[in-house]
Amino acid sequence: MTAKSAAAAARATVYGYPRQGPNRELKKAIEGFWKGRVTADDLARTAADLRKANWRQLAEAGVHEVPTGDFSYYDHMLDASVMVGAVPERHREAVEADALDGYFAMARGTQDVAPLEMTKWFDTNYHYLVPELGPDTVFAANPVKQVSELKEALALGLTARPVLVGPVTYLLLAKPAPGVAADFSPLSLLEKLLPVYAEVLADLRATGAEWVQLDEPALVQDRTPEELEAAAHAYRELGRLADRPKLLVASYFDRLGDALPVLAKSPVEGLALDFTESAAANLDSIAATGGLPGKRLIAGVVNGRNIWINDLEKSLATLGTLLGLADSVDVAASCSLLHVPLDARAERDIDAEVLRWLAFARQKTAEIVTLAKGLAQGTDAIAGQLAANRADLASRAGSSLTHDPAVRARAAAVTEADTHRSQPYAQRAAVQRDHLGLPLLPTTTIGSFPQTTTLRTARADLRAGRIDTAAYEERVKAEIRDVLAFQEQAGIDVLVHGEPERNDMVQYFAEQLTGYLATQHGWVQSYGTRYVRPPVLAGDISRPEPMTVRWTTYAQSQTARPVKGMLTGPVTMLAWSFVRDDQPLGDTARQVALALRDEVGDLEAAGTPVIQVDEPALRETLPLRATDRDAYLAWATEAFRLSTGGVRPATQIHTHMCYAEFGDIVQAIDDIDADVISLEAARSHMQVAHELADHGYPREAGPGVYDIHSPRIPSAEEATALLRKGLEAIPPERLWVNPDCGLKTRGWPETRASLENLVAAARTVRQEL
Ligand code: GLN
Ligand code: ZN
Repeated sequence: MTAKSAAAAARATVYGYPRQGPNRELKKAIEGFWKGRVTADDLARTAADLRKANWRQLAEAGVHEVPTGDFSYYDHMLDASVMVGAVPERHREAVEADALDGYFAMARGTQDVAPLEMTKWFDTNYHYLVPELGPDTVFAANPVKQVSELKEALALGLTARPVLVGPVTYLLLAKPAPGVAADFSPLSLLEKLLPVYAEVLADLRATGAEWVQLDEPALVQDRTPEELEAAAHAYRELGRLADRPKLLVASYFDRLGDALPVLAKSPVEGLALDFTESAAANLDSIAATGGLPGKRLIAGVVNGRNIWINDLEKSLATLGTLLGLADSVDVAASCSLLHVPLDARAERDIDAEVLRWLAFARQKTAEIVTLAKGLAQGTDAIAGQLAANRADLASRAGSSLTHDPAVRARAAAVTEADTHRSQPYAQRAAVQRDHLGLPLLPTTTIGSFPQTTTLRTARADLRAGRIDTAAYEERVKAEIRDVLAFQEQAGIDVLVHGEPERNDMVQYFAEQLTGYLATQHGWVQSYGTRYVRPPVLAGDISRPEPMTVRWTTYAQSQTARPVKGMLTGPVTMLAWSFVRDDQPLGDTARQVALALRDEVGDLEAAGTPVIQVDEPALRETLPLRATDRDAYLAWATEAFRLSTGGVRPATQIHTHMCYAEFGDIVQAIDDIDADVISLEAARSHMQVAHELADHGYPREAGPGVYDIHSPRIPSAEEATALLRKGLEAIPPERLWVNPDCGLKTRGWPETRASLENLVAAARTVRQEL
């Protein structure tokens, strides 16, 4: 095809759409089903209605080819496991008795069997269920869901493209099943898996699919030559099949790098690539590989992960460049729209001037359609949309919300010295030791205590106007007194106020910082039926008033023991929000850090001896490609140091991180220069203590000895054993004793017993020193 005819044929498509429905109907139906209040038939009907509504919405918006199979009752990786018959032994009975109950047993476990492990889908906040595979895994094609959803869309008269997790990504994201050697490589099962995919593809072809999309996002991560060879092999084999639909291999979340030439050379008919900022290198790589002659290219130019309007002219320029490089060019979002909320128009409380900057799934779909039309028919055909888009972008660029001169001047004036404590660690550690007078192996907690129904009711009462602020604050204070009394009686050394005033560790601060907005309906799926509503970091960030000082000082006024102040760190504030894309993340992090620096200063001035700045998300936003990591860690660690660097030597700065796998960021843990770090470690048997020791980490650390993700109470003996293990890596002068994470999801009885055991363990081990 010539560039001109390729342009004329440009079409709009998406890879996936939010599953939940405008009022989270899916969540309600599934949870109702779990409770026995909704029948399987009613659940199936609700789900089918939602799929139909989504397809209609897409088709009416002008999408030429709709996705199918992207819908899920729980998770698309779990759907893939079912499709290839990879049901773990322990779930087989449940699955054979009833497919739907068995499906949810794999997702959530039952009284007797553990669920599949859940982990993050690349660097998003979506979680998938990890396939468990071993040398004895027997795959068998079972594409019931994929075939029936395709039929539903075809019955509506739509052009439909089934979307499947690709075989290489499926295996690369799997782990050895329990009881299988840890060094077993699931990728070694590729030869067994490919015939199953072949069968699924044939079924979809027979049902009427012209194209099938195979998602291979794992190829945007650093891959070994063997892994790339496996990808080449997989698509050579699938390409060779006689009875198959056309294949579209999709990648997203980053650039393909070395995997691009591999896929370009493979006998598949189409590639879908991310062309948003972080993956812009894809453009040069395509040119460098000599283009994609004879292939259909789907260009992901609309960011599928953020909630900001597209720069249509910029996207058209990218699309124009791509035209000469492939047989045809279609337009899409960079990834499934699963990661954004459904419809910005549902927001009633957002200022109209700001609302025009926002694009959720529905608005992104319209952008994709506009771009495809502009590409096919020329910019005159979309002149109105382009003018409106220019005006919306100008409104955003010129807004006082996005450009606060005072915030900018302050950020520009940050000096190197601001990002460092006034004394090196060894010196200030001695000052802190004198100042705090703590025993060896000091005990503490991570911050939150159980969020009781009384508290939740109080918050709901306040929102509904049933109680006034004064009454609400009295309840919070009563809770703080209870939490302190328990900690004193249990013998904990550094106390916390328990965070009873916080709904969520990011939202609580977002609500108080200028530059952040809240949505009413901006739900995105985190896992299963759990949806989150991340705050929107839209503008320049400043802190009009202290955010936590009242509660911390109230707590300190009630006890003679040191109380630790609790803040959420700049990286986590960004990671768990929708962050502005009109300036580098590092600049945004710096603004948040300066707001937190004021809070840290106010806490210190109010007499808070210990201040903890939580960064549980530091690891999770680590870039997918190793070469991008240093730049990220440079601004991330600087932001942490900027928020904490202004305190006196005697003030002890703590931080906290969770979600395992700290191996990649030990240097960063060192670079943030916190005096004490608490880390999740109980399940990994203190592995992180050794990682820190091997690195030569010189500061104090509290690897968790109580796994708070389970209602199980660790015995004093267990905690003692873990502490002894910790001491093999960290000397007693530098070892803290604490749980893995905050206790807000736990109940009081188990929290009490567990913390008492934790203190008993610390006492036992102190005596052995
Ligand atoms: N301070 C927070 C809490 O205890 C930390 C939570 C977290 O790490 N996710 O709840
Ligand atoms: Zn945590």
